[in-house]
Amino acid sequence: MEKLLKSINQKLLNHFGKPPRAEKLPQPIDLLIATILSQNTNDRNSYKAYQNLIGRFKTWEEVNKAKRISVEKEIKVAGLGLQKSTAIKNLLNQLYEKVGSFSLDNILEMNNIETIDYLTSFKGIGVKTASCVLLFSLDKNICPVDTHVHRTMNRIGVVQTKNPDKTFSQINENLPSGIAHSLHTNLIRLGREYCTPKNYKCKNCPVVKICKHTPKNLESKNKNNDRPFMLLDSV
Ligand code: SF4
Repeated sequence: MEKLLKSINQKLLNHFGKPPRAEKLPQPIDLLIATILSQNTNDRNSYKAYQNLIGRFKTWEEVNKAKRISVEKEIKVAGLGLQKSTAIKNLLNQLYEKVGSFSLDNILEMNNIETIDYLTSFKGIGVKTASCVLLFSLDKNICPVDTHVHRTMNRIGVVQTKNPDKTFSQINENLPSGIAHSLHTNLIRLGREYCTPKNYKCKNCPVVKICKHTPKNLESKNKNNDRPFMLLDSV
């Protein structure tokens, strides 16, 4: 699998280029909150919501003290305001109860497995969100698996799994060093632009020659080649 992942990564790099990274990596707590905001919306709206939130409240302590409805007001552009404001308040509350502050600096001492175990011990934080902290905030060679990464990895034939968490385990047990960020980001792009859930476009798909999925759809061509805005590289 290692060789196959390397080859897929290279084909995606040749086609999409190297995805840009944030110059300064965000704090783990900032990244976690941005990830909560990103659920079920696009990256631009979640970025606006994040900017509104940190513009209105100067610290996470202020967010923790604020009324839930005031938090909801700032993040409504990202949708699901009630659920997301509740999740943010719950996370901050649980964090304060565990460590007496609003910092996740304690994870800097942990290995990857310990970090995932620790972060997923917070209610509402799953493996995908925890692994985003490892990649985007701590710069570890961990490839988070969202719905796009899960679908493309299964269609190409790298794994045969029923859910993203199983895909995550199998890929990350075999991940060549140094490729997590480009592979993750470009697989999302592949899943959004070519390998969409329905009406996927195999013609001109950068991995069509090695993809095992049948039937191929060789009729329609992808037209959009603009680099998409990526929230977690912009926090
Ligand atoms: S060839 Fe088709 S099925 Fe395979 S990854 Fe590309 S778009 Fe998806």
